[in-house]
Amino acid sequence: MEKPSHADRPARRSAPSVASWIGLAALCLIRPWTAHADCVGASDPSIQALQLLDAADPVQAVERVRARLATASSGAHPDTHLIAALDAVLAQSYSRLELDADARAAAQAGLALVADPRDPVRVGLLTSYAENVYDAAGIRAALATIRAAEAAQERGSRTGICLAITRGLLEYRMDRSDLAIVTLTRAYRASGAARFDQVRMLAADALTAVMRSMGDYAQALELNGEVIAWDIAHDARLSLSVSQYVRGTVLKLMGDYQGAIGAFAQSRDLSLSLHDTQGIAFENLRICETRVQLQDYDRAKRECARALPTFVAAGSTDVIKETRAVLARIDLGRNRPARALSTLDGVLDRGGEDLPPRRAAVLYRWRARANAALHHYRGAYADLSEYVRRTRADYDADRARQAAAMRARFETDRAVERNASLQRELALARERSQRQQAELKRNAVIFMSGLMVIAMLVYVSYFTLRHRRALLRLATLDGLTELPNRRRTAELAAQALQSALAVPRPLTLAIIDLDHFKQINDRCGHAAGDHVLREVARASVAVLRTGDVLGRWGGEEFLLVMPDTTLDAALVVLERLRAALLAIELPASGHGLHVSMSAGLATLDAHTRTLDELIARADTALYEAKDQGRNLVRVADHRRAAGPDSLIRRG
Ligand code: GH3
Ligand code: MG
Ligand code: MG
Repeated sequence: MEKPSHADRPARRSAPSVASWIGLAALCLIRPWTAHADCVGASDPSIQALQLLDAADPVQAVERVRARLATASSGAHPDTHLIAALDAVLAQSYSRLELDADARAAAQAGLALVADPRDPVRVGLLTSYAENVYDAAGIRAALATIRAAEAAQERGSRTGICLAITRGLLEYRMDRSDLAIVTLTRAYRASGAARFDQVRMLAADALTAVMRSMGDYAQALELNGEVIAWDIAHDARLSLSVSQYVRGTVLKLMGDYQGAIGAFAQSRDLSLSLHDTQGIAFENLRICETRVQLQDYDRAKRECARALPTFVAAGSTDVIKETRAVLARIDLGRNRPARALSTLDGVLDRGGEDLPPRRAAVLYRWRARANAALHHYRGAYADLSEYVRRTRADYDADRARQAAAMRARFETDRAVERNASLQRELALARERSQRQQAELKRNAVIFMSGLMVIAMLVYVSYFTLRHRRALLRLATLDGLTELPNRRRTAELAAQALQSALAVPRPLTLAIIDLDHFKQINDRCGHAAGDHVLREVARASVAVLRTGDVLGRWGGEEFLLVMPDTTLDAALVVLERLRAALLAIELPASGHGLHVSMSAGLATLDAHTRTLDELIARADTALYEAKDQGRNLVRVADHRRAAGPDSLIRRG
């Protein structure tokens, strides 16, 4: 499997003539992030799946996308948007495989199908195209296209930030780190503020390379750490291998050689697990270089010797030269100047024009050392002056770059300052809204608990009321007949008496006792007796008038209070009652028996003032009725009332 481009892995392109060494150097530094996922993202799950495959195995992704493109284009009404999205994945995969021309062609094919400038698919195609341009004129044109596309995006949108990252890449590729750092820093902050985590990671990755090129190693390391954390969190092993590699290069530049070897070794372990032979070769080369710094020449040589055959097999001329140069340096260290000289002659066969300027300068210094060791002083002198000349030029360029970068950093810091105050405001606003939310929640809780308490109180009071009513019923009503019980009857009778005396108005009351009730119980059973008592109550209430009060006085005895009723009127009522009771049916066992009653009547007169007196008179009349044969109504003190004949009824 061919691994996507890597920082300082220029040999991925087999023809170094494609770009100048400068362009190539910039490319190698900036390209690491292409090992990461697509920036704009895709909403279609099938496209997402292809992007994942692309990140893991771009060769297979190309095959899969091509097959899908064939089916998608075959129908009568092909889905042009889907085709464009597939083209975008294809361009991405070609880009990873460093097939620049193919990547550009795929991107261009897709671009012809999507017109909407804000469509993420279109933006993805534009960035893929731009990232695969390496010649100066092409980069300028791509920059103009990307700027125009950026202008069409919504402020702070994901597509806008992705385009900015691509712009930063192009600026860096044009050797304008000063512009790139501002562009990428802004993209980094904007993606952070918008919480586009993946975009922020891509910006951090690109920014790592720019910071490293500008000598801000601490910053580069920090950004690289962010990318590594993301890779680990997303189990992106391919990307992690690249990120560890980048870490190694930064640590090496910082002089932390052991740390650098550790990072390269981690990167190599991942490459091994991914069967990425090219990656392994690069990691071997970097470990070799770092061991040279530690003057550990034997182990360094082993690493370089491992790397070389892979590069030779791939025909990667530039890295072959680079590896040979390091081997020459090892020979110098081991005091083998002749071999070092012949190797360096081979590497510098084109006057160093095909090498990065700084690298070429160093090689002249090494060759001067080899020549001097071999007593070739003229050659040594020539090489040394070449080294000084190139170094001075490089140093001047560096100084200019540093000054531009300083200016850029100043601008960025000011932007950062503004950004920071914005962030503070944002944080304040967030905190305020959180507080409001918390308050709202608290109020809701208080309101709800209040409601619950009220509901409970209502519930409790309702049941208390019901309970009280039930208790009241129990306290005032007779359980069997549901007539007022003795206590309540006495109360009602007393009230009626008070009213009658107050106005004054007539009042008559009767004590009623069922005849031979024991016999009914004995013959029909106690339950039938109960039933008869209930029937007596029911039948009595039916024939009584409103205002009459009938209560159970005890056993089979009842008290009837008739306010506003004269004795004559009471007799009519009693007669109606007597007849109603006689109509109550008894069970077969009660054959020959009737429900009859005897009653004693007493009416209010000048001699009677209390209820007890009135009841006592009625009671006496009742005994008379019983004595005189039952089924009778007797009036108390009938001499004082109407004539006796009319007062006695016999059934
Ligand atoms: P009298 O005509 O002289 O009044 O005869 P009686 O049998 O009605 O009189 P007594 O007072 O000797 O008996 C009353 C009976 O009423 C006795 C008692 O068992 C019955 N009794 C009292 N309360 C109830 C009751 O709630 N249910 C039933 N089934 N019987 C009752
Ligand atoms: Mg009795
Ligand atoms: Mg009785």
